[in-house]
Amino acid sequence: MSRTHRIKPGEFPVRDSFLPFSQPWIEEEEIQAVAEVLKSGWLTTGKKTMEFESEFARYIGSPIALAFNSCTGGLHCALAALGIGPGDEVITSVFTFAATANVVCQLGAEPVFVDIDPSTLNMDFKKIEEKISPKTKAIIPVHYGGRPCPMDEIVSLARKYDLFVVEDAAHALGAIYKGKKIGALGSEVACFSFYPTKCITTGEGGMNTTASPELAEKMKIWRLHGISRDAWDRYQKGGSWYYEVVSPGYKYNLTDIASALGVEQLKKVERFQKRREELALKYREALKDFPFILPPPFEEGRHAWHLFPIQLKLEELNCTREEFVDALAKENIGTSVHFIPLHLMPYYRNKGLKEGDFPCAENAFRRLISLPLFPKMSDEDLESVVQALRKLVEWYSK
Ligand SMILES: *Cc1c(COP(=O)(O)O)cnc(C)c1O
Repeated sequence: MSRTHRIKPGEFPVRDSFLPFSQPWIEEEEIQAVAEVLKSGWLTTGKKTMEFESEFARYIGSPIALAFNSCTGGLHCALAALGIGPGDEVITSVFTFAATANVVCQLGAEPVFVDIDPSTLNMDFKKIEEKISPKTKAIIPVHYGGRPCPMDEIVSLARKYDLFVVEDAAHALGAIYKGKKIGALGSEVACFSFYPTKCITTGEGGMNTTASPELAEKMKIWRLHGISRDAWDRYQKGGSWYYEVVSPGYKYNLTDIASALGVEQLKKVERFQKRREELALKYREALKDFPFILPPPFEEGRHAWHLFPIQLKLEELNCTREEFVDALAKENIGTSVHFIPLHLMPYYRNKGLKEGDFPCAENAFRRLISLPLFPKMSDEDLESVVQALRKLVEWYSK
């Protein structure tokens, strides 16, 4: 590219105000709904949370949905309810947020990592079977960035070896695979996140969907102090104080304050999804001639487009990913990196893992940048990102 008009990164930034990598979209309806709960006299888990759960189940097309105060809590309870514990192994992607594997360790079990498919950045299906051992109890597919994993294949492989499937669907609210929403695809449990950067938000929060009433009952018990509702119902005579603790449960219930946010956000999920799709298409169109590897399109169903990750073709650029990210920040463009492969984290390294173990994840990680993508962002915002990228590509071109 021509070097005559190159402008140094940060000099005359492409925009004056900082564009964050992500931002929730809270409107008057959410504020009103929260205010009503605050005035109602009932703040913790109650009617609003039940409403959120039933609306969520209806949206997904799953018989049951259970609200949690995070996706992490939902994953933890799902595995606890399935009886995962010391001596067990759980297979998951090395390319995920720490929570996915941390909860496995918290239960005394061992995560067994699988490398990714370099094009989709999802766990490579072909590499799962070789990781199955007599100790394997479950598989946790992670729908990276909102791109559905091949659930038919994963569920049939799990059935063949008598394994459970718990989906990390933190990115995948709204995603569709073979005509069904993620969360209604035959796994034991799918766990969604409502963290502020995710598809919809409750501040902090999560939701598990399942088709199994028995598993739902167990997850409810683990969710709240190990208190059995059976016992509660049995002994309840119009507001009895009696309860029984049947397991050392957690404290992962969602408040009605958060659920009020959730009910309103869920009403907008399709609008948000359409806008995310629109933005992703615009990025794809605008960036197709840049020295980036773009996420491949997803045609068999629907991608939730929680993330739009580009990979720098470092061979064609005179910079590292870190330098490129810093330069984008100087142009007032916020970005993020999803994810640092878990085997490079000190805790997981100490389990005997090392650099080189998962070459596809490492290679993608070195090049990755998640661009700003959130429904509230305008076409002009997106255009400023493209402008900044063009400027930096010219600056760093070899
Ligand atoms: C955000 C995230 C989680 C955790 O969600 P929380 O609701 O913050 O607990 C789990 N897995 C993945 C892949 C995530 O991105």
